[in-house]
Amino acid sequence: MRKIAILGSTGSIGTQTLDVVRANKDIEVRALAAGSNIRLLEEQIREFHPQLAAVWEEERAKELALRVRDMDVRVVSGMEGLLELAVMPGYEILVTAIVGMIGIRPTMAAMEAGKDIALANKETLVTAGHLIMPLAQKMGVQILPVDSEHSAIFQSLNGERQNRLHKILLTASGGPFRGRTREELRTIRVEDALKHPNWSMGRKITIDSSTMVNKGLEVMEARWLFGVSMDQVQVVVQPQSVIHSMVEFEDGAVIAQLGTPDMKLPIQYALYYPERRFLAGERLDFAKLGQITFEAPDMVNFEGLALAYEAGRAGGTLPAVFNAANERAVEKFLNREIGYLSITEMIRASMEHHRVIPGPSVDEILAAEQETYDFIESRW
Ligand code: NDP
Repeated sequence: MRKIAILGSTGSIGTQTLDVVRANKDIEVRALAAGSNIRLLEEQIREFHPQLAAVWEEERAKELALRVRDMDVRVVSGMEGLLELAVMPGYEILVTAIVGMIGIRPTMAAMEAGKDIALANKETLVTAGHLIMPLAQKMGVQILPVDSEHSAIFQSLNGERQNRLHKILLTASGGPFRGRTREELRTIRVEDALKHPNWSMGRKITIDSSTMVNKGLEVMEARWLFGVSMDQVQVVVQPQSVIHSMVEFEDGAVIAQLGTPDMKLPIQYALYYPERRFLAGERLDFAKLGQITFEAPDMVNFEGLALAYEAGRAGGTLPAVFNAANERAVEKFLNREIGYLSITEMIRASMEHHRVIPGPSVDEILAAEQETYDFIESRW
C-alpha cells in the first residue's frame, strides 16, 4: 500500500489525484489540505478517511471540525497546519497541488522529514529551486514531476542518467491566442482566456497558458529539475499537445513522450514510479490525428515567455518577483480590473523595479513576493 498526503486536494490536480487513488484502490490517503472549500473537503474526508485535514482559514477549519466530528480525523489550520501535515509520520509521498509560493515551506519541511515529493506546485521550484534541489540530494528524497511536460522529460530520461543531456525541448500548445498580434490581444476578455484548446485546468494556470507565462514558469521549473541552464531549455510550439516534451542528447538523438492530454497520466506515473499502471481513457490514434506540426514560440507578442527567460537567467529573487507579479496581475485580470496586456506590463514593471538578491533564503524569497505585491498595489 502506498501512503500519500495531498496539499490542495480540492483543486484541479488534487481532485484528479483522488481520481487516480479511486481507480487503483491500493493507495491510502493519510492527509488532505485545502484553502477554504470545506464542502468538497468534507466529501473527500468521508470517502478517503485521512487522519489529518488542514484548512488554511481558521474559521473554516473550525466549521469543518464540527461537520466531521463523527469521523476519526483531526482538523488543523494555517501555515502551522500545513507544516504539521507535511512532517506527520505514516505517509511517503506528498503531492503538492497547492498554488503559489505558499508551497515552499511545507514542501521543504516534508523533504526534511524524508518524504518524496510529487510536485505540481511549480512555483516552489521556480522561486526556490536553488534550495529544493540540494535539499533533495542531501535528504535522499525524490522529486517526481507531475507537470505533464516535466513528466514527459522525466520519462524520456529513463535509463539515460549516465548520458549528458544536450537540450530539453519543452513543448507548448501556444494557447488559444496563438498567431494573434498585440493589437488583437489588447481586447481579450476573461471568458476568451479561460478557454484552453486542449487541457482542462484550474483558472489561474489556464490564463497563464494563454499568456505563455505558464511556459516561462515551466522553463524555470525544468532548469532546476533536470540540472541544465535556461539556455538549454528550448520551447517548441506543437499545437496538438500530443508530444508532451522531448530531450536531445549529445549525439543528436531526440527522445519524446507522447499521449492524449490527460493529467491523470503524469499524476499516476509520479505516484507509482517506476511502475506503469493501466489508465482508462482515450488512446492516441495516429491515423485520426493525421499530423503533428511545429513552430517557434512568438516571444514578441507573448512577452511573458521572454520575461521568464530574463528572470530565470538573472536568478536570485527575480523569478519570485516574476511569479508574484503574474499572480497579482492574473487576479486583477480575472476580477476585470485590468486588461489582458496589462498582465505582462505589470510583470515587466515589477522586474525593473526590483533589486535582485542572489541565492536568497526562503525569508528573502517571501519578502520579494511581498515587496512585489506592495509595488503593484502602489502603482495600479
Ligand atoms: P487549483 O486552483 O485548481 O487548486 C488549488 C488547490 O490549492 C485547491 O485545493 C485550493 O483549495 C488549495 N489551496 C489554495 N491556497 C491554499 C492554502 N493557503 N492552503 C491550503 N490549500 C490551499 O490549482 P491547480 O490544481 O490548477 O494547480 C495546482 C498547482 O499545480 C499549481 O502550481 C499549478 O501551476 C500546477 N499545475 C497544474 C496543472 C493543471 O492541469 N491544473 C498542470 C500542471 C501543474 P480551495 O479549493 O479550498 O481554494
